[in-house]
Amino acid sequence: MESIKEIYKIGYGPSSSHTMGPKKAAGQFLTKNKKAERFEVVLYGSLAATGKGHLTDLAIKDTFKNHKIKVIWKPKIFLPKHPNALKFMAFGNNNKITDEWTAYSVGGGSIIDDFTKSETANVYPHKNMEEILTWSNLNGKQFWEYVAEYEGEGIWEFLAEAWKVMQASIKNGLNGQGVLPGGLKLPRKAQSFFLKGQNFATPFKRRSQLFAYALAISEENAGGGKIVAAPTCGASGVLPAVLKYFRKVYKTDENSVLRALATAGLIGNIVKTNASISGAEVGCQGEIGTACAMASAAATQMMGGTIYQIEYSAEMGLEHHLGLTCDPVAGLVQIPCIERNAFAAERAVSHNTFALMSDGRHRISFDEVVETMYKTGIDMQSKYRETSEGGLANFDGLPR
Ligand code: SF4
Repeated sequence: MESIKEIYKIGYGPSSSHTMGPKKAAGQFLTKNKKAERFEVVLYGSLAATGKGHLTDLAIKDTFKNHKIKVIWKPKIFLPKHPNALKFMAFGNNNKITDEWTAYSVGGGSIIDDFTKSETANVYPHKNMEEILTWSNLNGKQFWEYVAEYEGEGIWEFLAEAWKVMQASIKNGLNGQGVLPGGLKLPRKAQSFFLKGQNFATPFKRRSQLFAYALAISEENAGGGKIVAAPTCGASGVLPAVLKYFRKVYKTDENSVLRALATAGLIGNIVKTNASISGAEVGCQGEIGTACAMASAAATQMMGGTIYQIEYSAEMGLEHHLGLTCDPVAGLVQIPCIERNAFAAERAVSHNTFALMSDGRHRISFDEVVETMYKTGIDMQSKYRETSEGGLANFDGLPR
């Protein structure tokens, strides 16, 4: 498995696969072809189908802002390797192609091409939860210690920076006002949820705070603000909301939060390695479901759960999102995405309670649910995989 740094990419919303990834690919191609006269980029499949709402073209054009660039949309053509494909072409002064490159935005801001399977080298020798549980058991160590063992001590600095950005996103989102961009006229509601919650009795107050934190980040993301993909932009509100909630309600210390981030990153990494975190490939179960699994594991670790209870919590996070489709209204990362983050955060808190009540034994393992999620996603018709051609995307979502 790659480093968990690949799970937590810091960048700007609204979409890790449709904005962050294509922007990164554009930057790489431009660096290689600085002297080209002009460029063309062809967007295929899901990238073309929801690229307008996800601001894919703007992200690419921003990278090529000092060059001639034409964006071509081919939503009906899906390249075999991944539904999020884009082909860059560089032209010389005789209008001949001087270079071309096909890249795939595979989720969470990661890019691969026809010759690569992953973006970076593997740092972990194990590939799934079963192997990691065995290692942890034999060595008497926790998941976060496993992460530190293979990532090195530098991982704590990286996670501290990610947590800092997450907290800033919550703060910015809670201060945000007005309508989100994109035409749905969707008002931000994080601040009003937070303020109204102050007047409630404790259980409702806590729940409204949890909702408000998740909404804050998701609204920041939808508005193109700075966030940490966890594991994607669309699902970036779930984990930070749960971390902030436990920090505030249970006075969890800063080190516990960083260790929870390490374990959550490991969970996301297992899903990314053995299945997918791309809504275009497996639907929203791969984005919100994975984010919920990460947050569930983080919560259970922060509450002192055993590695088996943490594994159970993560398993529930994914299991109870199986089959969840990706059908964003108007191709925007707003409906159902924003509210979905709030409810996944609440579910993560419940999974923690459930796992701690148990002795950690359960019948379907995390690895089995990851495999099931992937197979379910591949079986989904493409209209439910980030093309905005079915489901909720059949409706305009406008105010009535
Ligand atoms: S529905 Fe889920 S997978 Fe699709 S864009 Fe929204 S958050 Fe991402």
